[in-house]
Amino acid sequence: MTQHTDVVVIGGGQAGLAAGYHLRRQGLDFVVLDAQATPGGAWQHTWESLRLFSPAAFSSLPGRLMPAQPGEEYPEAGHVVEYLSDYEKRYDLPVLRPVRVHGVHDDGRLLSVDTDSGTWHARAVISATGTWWRPFLPAVPGREDFGGRQLHTVSYRRPRDFEGRRVIVVGGGNSGAQIAADLVHHTELTWVTQRPPRFLADDIDGRALFDAATARRRALDEGRTDTGGVAALGDIVAVPPVREARDRGLLKASPMFSRLVPGGIEWADGTRAEADAIIWCTGFRPALSHLAPLRLRGPHGHIAVRGTRALDEPRLHLLGYGDWVGPASATLIGVGRPARDTARQIAELLS
Ligand SMILES: Cc1cc2nc3c(=O)[nH]c(=O)nc-3n(C[C@H](O)[C@H](O)[C@H](O)COP(=O)(O)OP(=O)(O)OC[C@H]3O[C@@H](n4cnc5c(N)ncnc54)[C@H](O)[C@@H]3O)c2cc1C
Repeated sequence: MTQHTDVVVIGGGQAGLAAGYHLRRQGLDFVVLDAQATPGGAWQHTWESLRLFSPAAFSSLPGRLMPAQPGEEYPEAGHVVEYLSDYEKRYDLPVLRPVRVHGVHDDGRLLSVDTDSGTWHARAVISATGTWWRPFLPAVPGREDFGGRQLHTVSYRRPRDFEGRRVIVVGGGNSGAQIAADLVHHTELTWVTQRPPRFLADDIDGRALFDAATARRRALDEGRTDTGGVAALGDIVAVPPVREARDRGLLKASPMFSRLVPGGIEWADGTRAEADAIIWCTGFRPALSHLAPLRLRGPHGHIAVRGTRALDEPRLHLLGYGDWVGPASATLIGVGRPARDTARQIAELLS
C-alpha cells in the first residue's frame, strides 16, 4: 500500500499530538503514525507510583488545559494517558495505530516513510519518537558475570516485585531517586550515584524547570552568558515521596562501584555489596534509528539542527527529544512552542 500526504508525523505521544494540533491549524494534510496499540506514548509504560513533577494545569498541551486529577496535586501517569487519549479525540487527529516506521528515505522530490503497513510519501516529516524506547546502559565491567536480575527503568513497575530482596538502584537523576524512594520500605536498598545526589529546592517543580530552560535558551540565542539552565539548579525534583524518604534519612547514596561480580557489586577498594537485582536508572537516548537511511548523523553521532529542523535535510524536523530541539521540549508544557514553530516552518516550505 502506498499513500501520499503533505506531512507524516512519526510517533503519537504528546510531541506527535502537539505537532498534529498545529499542523491542523496551518491547514496541512497529515497523518500521525504510532507504534503503540493505544494512545498515551511512553506514559502507558511507566512505574505505577510515578507522579508528574508539575500540577495538571502546568502539564498541558496547546489548546486544552489538563484537568486536575481529583485528590492529586501532581497527577499520576494514568491521568496523562487519559488526557492524551481525550486530546487526540477532541481534535480529531488522524493517528494510525499500531504502525511502526522502519525507515525514512530521500526519494528525490518527496521523503518516503517505510512502515510495517506500507509506504507513505510526504513533502515533510516530523520525527517525534521520544526516548523511552532507547534505554541507555553504561558499560560496566562484569555485567555478564552478575547472577541476579538486571533491568532498566523502562522495565520497573512496582516495589512488590522486589519485596524483601537486596536491590541496587543505579542513577542520581529523577528516575533513580523516585525508584529508590519507591523501594526503600520494601527492600534492602543500596542507592548508587556517580556524584553526590543534587536535590532541587523543595519549592521547585516542573514550572520552575520550564522557566529555567526557557531563560537559558533565550540567553544563548541573544549571545549572553549561559545561565546553566535546569542543570544549574540540581538534578532531582523533590516530589513528595522523594522528599519524605530523604527527610527520614533513608535516601543516602553510595558512590559508583567499579564492577559487577557474580553475587553483587564491588567498589574500587574491594568492598562488596550483595544483590539480587540491579535497576539501572541511567537514562535514555533519542529513538532515531528510523532516520538512519538519511545519513544525517555528524561525527559525534548527533543530527545537526537549527530549532527543530535538520540542517542537512530541511524537510525533516525533530520534535520533543530534549533541550537540543527546543527548551523543555521533552515535557508536556514545553513541547507546544516548538510544535507551533515546526508547523509554521513546514507550511512556509510547502507553500
Ligand atoms: C520517568 C519519566 C518521568 C517524566 N516525568 C515528566 C513530568 O512529570 N512532566 C513532564 O512534562 N514530562 C515528564 N517526562 C518527560 C516527557 O514528558 C515524557 O518522556 C514523554 O513521554 C515524552 O513524550 P514524547 O511524545 O516525546 O515521546 P513518547 O511518549 O515516548 O511517544 C513517542 C511515541 O512514538 C512511538 N514510536 C517510537 N518509535 C516509533 C517508530 N519507529 N514508528 C512509529 N512510532 C514510534 C512510540 O511508540 C510512542 O508512542 C518524564 C519522562 C520520564 C522518562
